[in-house]
Amino acid sequence: MEALKYVVLFVFGLAFGSFFNVLIYRLPRDLSVVSPGSYCPHCKKHIRWYDNIPLLSYVILRAKCRYCGAPISIRYPLVELVGGLILAGIPFLGSLWGDTNVPVGRVNPIHDAFAIAVVSIFFLVLVIDFEHQIIPDQLSVALFAIGWLGVLFLRPGFSPGWLSSLIGMFALSIFFLIFAMAIGGFGIGDVKLAVGMGAVYGWQQLIVVAMLSFVAGGIVAAIYAVYLLFRRKYRTRIQIPFGPYLALGAIVSVFFAQRIMDWYLAFFK
Ligand SMILES: [Zn+2]
Repeated sequence: MEALKYVVLFVFGLAFGSFFNVLIYRLPRDLSVVSPGSYCPHCKKHIRWYDNIPLLSYVILRAKCRYCGAPISIRYPLVELVGGLILAGIPFLGSLWGDTNVPVGRVNPIHDAFAIAVVSIFFLVLVIDFEHQIIPDQLSVALFAIGWLGVLFLRPGFSPGWLSSLIGMFALSIFFLIFAMAIGGFGIGDVKLAVGMGAVYGWQQLIVVAMLSFVAGGIVAAIYAVYLLFRRKYRTRIQIPFGPYLALGAIVSVFFAQRIMDWYLAFFK
């Protein structure tokens, strides 16, 4: 029966993933996310429900629009799959707001719902910022709201607490704001994301998220720099949007923050 629960969550998650696809397409283009229903971005024809079944329709239609034959990106089924993995994976693995008194994973359904919402939003940030170099305000505002709902309605120990969230809102965002104004390394979108992120994680876990992001961003920048050297492109400026790495750090920390903090603190014992 335990396994069946995760299968059901996975199937529901595929529908979530289908909605992620809508958001990923429409949010950065400032289109309404509720109407009209799904349509082909190429011929604009309405997609019927039987052509909109997660994973299956992609295979049945052989990755082509039924009407105009335009290719459907592999990204659609992949995003649907991620939706399934988030919904089934968080209750199995997740530990948003790591608490040493609570075993990792299988905490409680409300806590799981918060973690699912947070990971979903960061996944959207990851894909949209990577493709468009935009972080839609709606996503940062949603994080801010989730953070404070957690502070108000979750039991202590299941949320970072109001003071930690309040400090978290300013900790990283002020740092980004200074950089954005001084050297332009970060955009204002990153600043707003950091406010929402701080509200969700509180300042302690935010440090872990920031560390993970800088490490991931640094590794990619270093690889890219070496690649440019080999291609003898000495004058190319390295510009990598930082939002995707922030999102990546935020997602990884949902699963591993507590373990990383324990591991880090062990050095000082
Ligand atoms: Zn079409």
